[in-house]
Order: sequence, then structure tokens, then C-alpha cells
Amino acid sequence: MPKKNIIIYGATGSIGDSTLELIRNNLDDFNIIGLTCNNNIEKLKLLAAEFNCKNIGIADTDSINKYRNTLINFELYEGINEFHNMITEQAVDIIIFAIAGSDALNLSLNLAESGKVLGLANKECIVCAGKLFMDKIKSSSTKLIPLDSEHNAIYQLCYGKNTSSINNYIITASGGHFYNYTETELRKITPQKAVTHPQWSMGEKISVDSSTLMNKGLEIIEACNLFDFNEDKIDALIHPESIIHGIINFKDNSSHAFLSAPNMQISISSILFPNNDVRSNNFDLDLKKISTLNFYEIDELKFRAINLAKSALKHGGLMPSVLNYSNELMVNQFIEYKICFTEIVINSEIVMEKFLSDGNNILNPTISNIFESFGIVKDYIDNANIFKIFSR
Ligand code: NDP
Ligand code: MG
Repeated sequence: MPKKNIIIYGATGSIGDSTLELIRNNLDDFNIIGLTCNNNIEKLKLLAAEFNCKNIGIADTDSINKYRNTLINFELYEGINEFHNMITEQAVDIIIFAIAGSDALNLSLNLAESGKVLGLANKECIVCAGKLFMDKIKSSSTKLIPLDSEHNAIYQLCYGKNTSSINNYIITASGGHFYNYTETELRKITPQKAVTHPQWSMGEKISVDSSTLMNKGLEIIEACNLFDFNEDKIDALIHPESIIHGIINFKDNSSHAFLSAPNMQISISSILFPNNDVRSNNFDLDLKKISTLNFYEIDELKFRAINLAKSALKHGGLMPSVLNYSNELMVNQFIEYKICFTEIVINSEIVMEKFLSDGNNILNPTISNIFESFGIVKDYIDNANIFKIFSR
């Protein structure tokens, strides 16, 4: 079998690490032909040297000059707007899209129509531009494989099944470190505590999102967009062990669940080794050792993020994008100690209410409408008075 050529967008992050670890253990099967980062150029150079990769992309153009002399042997793609050219200029089989956040929105649409096998880890872009993204997938020969573990589970469970016989879908959430905290305890959570996770090793932003349960909210929107169902077809459950990632309940009352150890290499291996035949490192699932699996209903009064996500889906149009972008800005403010943990979600709810009451929502938005909505959200947040006027 010829080696498969792979580009990893967001190679220096946690998903990048997991993907490269799988490839490192299977070098006979893959060529790395493109790697990108935002500004972690030291790490990008080490990876490019290790995998003999000639094409590199750096999004943060300000940081390039300091390194320019050391980059002369690479084909350099400067700025995220150049990243998609890597695909047209090289023979590519598989793309892993693992940039964090919605800055990669335009790139996500380019990748959707690339005609390649596309592994989607980034969730923010498909939350913001769900229909535009999926329309491009459908009108091209791109084969989309969701890598987010819950969506990957549903994807693998649905494979070859008649989706009309499905009643509903369940995705699980570990609940994170803080699920049993009181309101007062939640308010005191520091960024240092929130950027780690008990079950999964992940980037900072998604770790904070997991603790507020906004990650699960975004994943509900992501699932509705990916699999084309509406919000009353999906539920999320707390499952602290993170062994079952997705469940499909069929009309005949049978339920099919996807189990694995909580490690992203297992989801990612489904795109690199579609026959489930790779020997993964040390991720054996020993149910005798685990012995008990627990499931709880989410306390939606304490964790409002699920409600916000479902409300964004019901309103449709720009609202998922408003929720996502507001959350991104709020997580940054939390990491910079400007707001407390509970304000991340409370403030996003206020932003959504204001956006709607100002009559700014547009059904069937264009990509320009989505970028305009980011501008409006940013203006609201910069004018922090709205958090006093709308305070509850
Ligand atoms: P990390 O923060 O660990 O890595 C993010 C990657 O994106 C890095 O390579 C980073 O470069 C790059 N990046 C960040 N901002 C920009 C930008 N503005 N322009 C270009 N590149 C940028 O994140 P994760 O790997 O944890 O997550 C990546 C995506 O996958 C997220 O959308 C997340 O929600 C999703 N995901 C992650 C899971 C996980 O287990 N980690 C599970 C499921 C989904 P640099 O290193 O230079 O900053
Ligand atoms: Mg997930």
C-alpha cells in the first residue's frame, strides 16, 4: 500500500500530539507533508524535523520574523489565510483539522470543499457555520470524519445503519472536576484549576469549556449540524468514567453504545486506520477493573450551558455563532482573571439575549453575516455595561 500523505492543521496542540503519536508508531503507512501552528514555532520546527516535513504554516505572522533565518529550508505558509494553499500545492490524502477556535472559520470552509478525507476535531467552526460547512461537504467529494470522541462514536455506530430507525442520540460528559461544587465554590475556581481535566488531556480552552459544560453545549450543536437532526433528538448525560462516549437508541428499544478508554488516539485512529485494525498503545479497556459505570442527569439549573446551546439551536440563524463567539471571548477573559468562572456562561446568556432583543438574528446567514455577528458580540462585550444593565 502506498503511504498516505497527511496535513495536520493545529499540529502543535493536544490533538496534534495524539495524531503524531499514532503516526510516529506507524511510519511505514504515512508521510507528513504539512504542519501548522499559531506561534509555537519552536515546537513546529522540532516536529517538522522529526517527520521530515517541508511545508509549514504559521498563523501569527508577527512572530515569524524572529525565526525567519531558521525557516529558509521550509516552504512557509504565512498567516492562516495562506494555509489552504498547502492542499492545492501538494498531493494530499488526509487532513486533520485541529486548530482551536473560530479564527479558522474561512479555512474550515476551504477544507470542507477540498475533496480529501477530512478529520474534524475543531468544533467552533462547525458550530458557527454549520449549514454552510455541511453544504460544502455535500456538494464536494470530501469525506468528513468527526474526531470529537462523542461524534466519532456516533459516526462509527451509525456506519452502515439506516438512520430512519434511530429514535434519539445520547452523548456523555465526564462532568469535570467541579460538577459537585456549590455555586459559591464554582465562583472561586481559578484558571489554573480549570485548565486541567480529570479524564482527558486537552488544550486550555476546551478544558475550561468542559468544566462549564459549554463543551457539551457546543457538542450538541455540533452533533445536530453533523448528523442533521434537531435538538430534541439528542441528550447529554453525566458519565464520570468517560468510557461510553455515544449511544444510539433505536426505535425497537435496542441501544448501541460506543466504549473506549478516554484517549483521543482511539477516535483519531478511525481516520488513519478505517478498519479498526491498528494496535493502539496501552488503551486496553478492562471492564473488570473499571467494574462500575455511572450515569446522572445534568443539573441544568447549575450548569446553564446546555440550555443556552439548545436555545441557540431553536432560534437558529446566527445564534449558535453568537453563543460560540461570546464563549470564546469569555473564556479568554476568565483565563486573564478578568471575570470569574460562573460569569463565562452567565455573560454569554446576556449577550445572546441582547443580540436577539436588538433584532440582530438572521436566519440562513452568509459567512459575512457570521463575521458581522462576531463584531457585534465583541462590541457588546467591550462595552461591559450590558452585564450591569441585564444583570440578574
Ligand atoms: P490546543 O490548544 O492544544 O491546540 C490548538 C492548536 O491550534 C495549536 O496547534 C495552536 O497553535 C493552533 N492555533 C490556536 N489558535 C490558532 C489560530 N488563531 N490560528 C491558527 N492556529 C491556531 O487545542 P486542542 O488540540 O485541545 O483542540 C483543538 C480543537 O479540537 C479544538 O477546537 C477542540 O475543541 C477540539 N477537540 C479537542 C479535543 C482534545 O482532546 N484535545 C477533543 C475534541 C475536540 P500554537 O500551539 O502555536 O498555539
Ligand atoms: Mg468531545
